[in-house]
Amino acid sequence: MDTRTVGVLGGGQLGRMFVEAANNRNISVAVLDKKASPAKQINSYNGVDGSFTNAQAIRELARKCDILTVEIEHVDTDVLEELENESLARGKSIEIQPSWQTIRIIQDKFLQKQRLIEAQVDVAESRPFSTVSKKEIKKVHKQIGFPFMLKARKGAYDGRGNYPVRSTEDLEPAMKKLQGRELYAEKWADFAMELAVMVVKTKNEADPLVWESSTKSFPTVETVHQDSICKLVYAPARGLSDKLNAQAQKLARRAVASFKGKGVFGVEMFLLKDDSILVNEIAPRPHNSGHYTIEACRLSQYDAHLLAILDRPIPAKSLQLLNPAIMLNILGGADPNSYLNLANAADAAGAKVHLYGKGNATKGRKMGHLTLVGDSMPELEEEMRHLITGADRLHD
Ligand code: ATP
Ligand code: MG
Ligand code: MG
Repeated sequence: MDTRTVGVLGGGQLGRMFVEAANNRNISVAVLDKKASPAKQINSYNGVDGSFTNAQAIRELARKCDILTVEIEHVDTDVLEELENESLARGKSIEIQPSWQTIRIIQDKFLQKQRLIEAQVDVAESRPFSTVSKKEIKKVHKQIGFPFMLKARKGAYDGRGNYPVRSTEDLEPAMKKLQGRELYAEKWADFAMELAVMVVKTKNEADPLVWESSTKSFPTVETVHQDSICKLVYAPARGLSDKLNAQAQKLARRAVASFKGKGVFGVEMFLLKDDSILVNEIAPRPHNSGHYTIEACRLSQYDAHLLAILDRPIPAKSLQLLNPAIMLNILGGADPNSYLNLANAADAAGAKVHLYGKGNATKGRKMGHLTLVGDSMPELEEEMRHLITGADRLHD
C-alpha cells in the first residue's frame, strides 16, 4: 500500500492502537520507547529502545523512517526542528507530522492558549502565575476569582498537572503537587458538559479561515472526567442540540486549522451553562476521547491519523458514527491486578475490551478501556451501569 516507514515517538497505548491500524495495511512502523512497551509488544519492526525525550534516540529513529509522528506531545522538539532542517539541506526528506512547530506550541498549554486566542477561538481566561506566594494567589483571585484551576504549563496529562484552588488554604497542597513546574492559572469553567471532537487535518497550512477545506471531523462526543482523568465517553454527546453540535464542530475544526501540519487532533471543549463553548485543550495526536471510533466508525482515529500523514484519501462519510457507543476507561485500582475484574466483567457483558499490556497497575493508571456499541443510548446506559459500578469499586 505504501512502502514508507512511519516512526512514532512514544509506544504507550495510543502508539499500540496506531500500530494495529498500520498492521492492517502492512505499513511498517518503528517505535521509539522502552523495550516491551505496549506498542512494541505487537510490533515486529526493529524500532529504537530509549526515550522520546532523548535527542540521540530520536535521531536514531529518524534514520529508520520516512515520516515521524508522535503519540505524545511531550517530546524534544529542538531535535525535530534540526532533523527537518538537516533533511532539507541533504535532500533526503524526513517529514514530521504534525509539524514540530505545532507540537512545540501545544506542549506548553499557556502558549497553546495564546495561539488559540490569535485564531479567535474562545478559551478560558488565563493568567501566568509567576511567584508561588499567598500574594500571587490573591492577585490572581482578584483577576479571575475562586475557584480557579492552577495548571502546569508543560508535561501535563491525566490531570497530573492540575490543582483546583478554592481558597488561599489550597496554596500549600497545590504547590506541593506542582512543585518545580512552570504554572499558570485558568478561570474556572462552570460547564454543563465536556465535549470532544477528533479532527483530522489533511493539509499542511495553518489558517483558521480555511477550516472547511483543511479539516474533517468525527462526531461530537461527551466526556466525563473524575479527578481530572477521563472516565467515560458518550458518542454522540447526550442531549446536545443540532445547533450546539454544529457550533462545537466548527469551533474544533477552526482551532485545529490554525495549527501547521497533518494528522488527527483531539479537541477538548467546555459547554458552558449559557450555551457558549470554550476550547479546553488540544492534543496533536489520537486521544482518549476518540477510542470509541475503533468500533463505532468505519475508520478509527488511528486509521485516520495514518491515512492523513500518508496523504491518502479520507472520505468524510468514513468518520460518521455508525451506532451509538459508550467507552469506559479501565484504570488501575489500589491492588495491582484488580483492574482485571473489570476487564473480565466487560468481556462477560460482550463489550470490546482493550488491555494495553502495561503489567501491574498503579492507582489511576490507564490500563485499558472497554467500548459498548448498540442500537440506542438508553440501552447502552443500562448495559453499562454495572460496569461503571465495577470501575467505581476499584477506586474506593
Ligand atoms: P489530558 O489527559 O486530557 O491531557 P490534562 O492533564 O492535560 O488532561 P486538562 O485537560 O487541562 O488536563 O484538565 C483535565 C480535566 O480537569 C478537564 O477535562 C476538566 O474536567 C477539568 N478542568 C480542567 N480545566 C478546568 C477549568 N478551567 N475549569 C473547570 N474544570 C477544568
Ligand atoms: Mg492534556
Ligand atoms: Mg485534557
